[in-house]
Amino acid sequence: MKKSAQPLNPAGPRPRARRSRTPVSVVTGGAGFLGSHLVDRLLERGHRVIVLDNLVTGSVDNIAHHAGDPAFRFIHQDVTEYLFLDGPVDYVWHFASPASPVDYLELPIQTLKVGSLGTHKALGLALHKRARFLLASTSEVYGDPTVHPQPETYWGNVNPIGPRGCYDEAKRFAEALTMAYHNEHGLETRIVRIFNTYGPRMRMNDGRVVPAFIAAALRNKPLTVYGDGRQTRSFCYCSDLIEGVYRLMMSDYPLPVNIGNPVEMTMLEFAEAVIRAVGSRSRIVFRPLPADDPKQRRPDITRAQNLLKWNPQVPLSEGLEKTIAWFRSKLKAGTGSAR
Ligand code: UDP
Repeated sequence: MKKSAQPLNPAGPRPRARRSRTPVSVVTGGAGFLGSHLVDRLLERGHRVIVLDNLVTGSVDNIAHHAGDPAFRFIHQDVTEYLFLDGPVDYVWHFASPASPVDYLELPIQTLKVGSLGTHKALGLALHKRARFLLASTSEVYGDPTVHPQPETYWGNVNPIGPRGCYDEAKRFAEALTMAYHNEHGLETRIVRIFNTYGPRMRMNDGRVVPAFIAAALRNKPLTVYGDGRQTRSFCYCSDLIEGVYRLMMSDYPLPVNIGNPVEMTMLEFAEAVIRAVGSRSRIVFRPLPADDPKQRRPDITRAQNLLKWNPQVPLSEGLEKTIAWFRSKLKAGTGSAR
């Protein structure tokens, strides 16, 4: 068996035999925010979809609309446990993980386990089925970046023992394991580094800035800006993100690709934008900045533009409108605090 620190063949290890039957996708974390949007897209594009989710941060509400669809199957399982599936699998999309800083602070060991043991199991399943594997990685692999914007060639600035270490290091390990399966086993693998993404189905109380600000604005409660609010993020609407992820899986490129929206803003500007979009009477209050909160973040998406011919299409105003409408309906239905 050949071993190499570099991908054996950046164009992809072995051509897959063309299959005439319906493609089968496994989505770990398929009941989560992004996982469930991916499931919708895959079913639309004619895949059979098997969701694996332990519902720790995901919710059956996100996939309930597929109940009864013969192309859809849900398995309530922790992806860190042995995965056995009958029948063929063509694509494994590994999305399972807590992804909000508040969640992974509460669940540091589960976060480390799903990123390490869970990725191992999901890779093992892909290898056994000779399926193509995609890892949902994160901009957090860049930590608190000293290079701006962040290209995929930047190695990052991560504090392994800080509050975000459990997530950042789990995802860095997951990337390393994915590359090792690619290099050692010739598995077809893809790695997407997902930057801040928002949209319907985010949990109102997951602690991330988008649901936190929208929920506060809709209730005319103060928006809590951490630090002086000058830290920046760039927000990508979920449909854009899913399109980029889908194109990456269908490409032949095994190295990491950033997917995110490069329009950057400060958290103070974002708070003001949310208040305006909601038409809220909320004011802004300041709270201490959590430890290791990245000061600036913006994806360099040149690789995705060149390779995948992908560009985000949904401007913040339009994405916010849709997201606000969704949160408003949840609040009206009284399900705003559900996980
Ligand atoms: N943030 C904030 N108020 C909140 C929640 C978050 O000011 O109620 C800030 C947070 O400090 C960070 C940014 O918003 O600088 C984005 O936070 P989020 O938790 O959404 O994700 P991150 O990008 O930090 O992983």
